[in-house]
Amino acid sequence: MTVEQTLRDLVAIDSVSARSNAEVIEYLEARCHEAGLKTRRFPHTDENGMAKINLVARTSAGERAGSSQTSVGDTELALVGHTDTVPYASNWHEALQLTAADGKLFGRGSCDTKAFIAAALTAVATVDLTQLQKPLALVFTADEEIGCLGAGRLAQAKPFTARYAIVGEPTSLRPMRAGKGYCLAEITVRGREAHSAYPQLGASAIFRAARLIERIEHVAQQLQRERHPGFDPPFTTLNVGLIKGGSAKNVVAGECGFTLEWRTIPGQPAAYTLDLIRQELERLQWDDPDFVCEIEATRADNSFEVPARSEIVQFLERASGNSAGTVAFGTEAPSMIALGAEAVVLGPGDIRVAHRTGEFVPVNELNRCVEILSGAIRHFCAG
Ligand SMILES: [Zn+2]
Repeated sequence: MTVEQTLRDLVAIDSVSARSNAEVIEYLEARCHEAGLKTRRFPHTDENGMAKINLVARTSAGERAGSSQTSVGDTELALVGHTDTVPYASNWHEALQLTAADGKLFGRGSCDTKAFIAAALTAVATVDLTQLQKPLALVFTADEEIGCLGAGRLAQAKPFTARYAIVGEPTSLRPMRAGKGYCLAEITVRGREAHSAYPQLGASAIFRAARLIERIEHVAQQLQRERHPGFDPPFTTLNVGLIKGGSAKNVVAGECGFTLEWRTIPGQPAAYTLDLIRQELERLQWDDPDFVCEIEATRADNSFEVPARSEIVQFLERASGNSAGTVAFGTEAPSMIALGAEAVVLGPGDIRVAHRTGEFVPVNELNRCVEILSGAIRHFCAG
């Protein structure tokens, strides 16, 4: 079974996040059993009633007798790939049919991230697993594309630990050792409705929100003082991406809500930005005691950073020939770090083509990825 055939099989299984991933897990489980790995399923039902499964497969090296139903135990190296994909346009007729042209393989998930999964399965098949002294794990997760939910569940349940992890995402085979965090909050400002001819009888929630947003812009400038040279831009950024308020043109607005998004540099807690905003809010409330505002933090995905001198960073730099960088998009690396790992993100293909119609992976990168992962298995698990 070549890496290309495996990728063809994987792309043929529709696994957009809205569906159950049971079918693709069944395929992966069978492939792991063929390779001589033991597997354990971690199933749950998502909020739409869909069956979702995280699958952890491992070699028997270093396995402790009597390991429980819920625990996979300690592993040395985990290769991690998410099984779900983003949706595809109905007019992309070959989305589920891997199509080759110009040294590229096209199909939904061909790059993000089924190429990495195909490379990991192929790499495992090239290594004599009985020669491994330290345990290797393959980790296949659900619902990455809708907020790294599957990996988050593993990070909470902690069914295994890993010393090192390679998280598959399209990085054009560049090892990424740090990533910004991703946080969201819903902010609701309240006022008092009145006829707009008599504004003094009410209090405009929109004017209040405008004052607060002006202060938030100052916070954005303040955040630029703390810098992390590995990123572009090298500081925590924030954005008010959505705003909604008022009920009619001649009514003083009673409510105004907006969405705040911020991306934190490693080393800065998610709450830091919110604390700065709360301080600004308190100042506004000092001048306007009636200023009612609720801040609901709805998401706080951690940033991550693994030291440049880490063995996994150094190995992947050597093996890929690429120096380590940083990623701007969210990944499952923080979840693997929660499981004890020094985690690096690496995979074939380019994130910039990943979520588009016509997503593809270059064949040469796919083959190179197999070599890099085989090398990693030998390097970390054989000795
Ligand atoms: Zn992905």
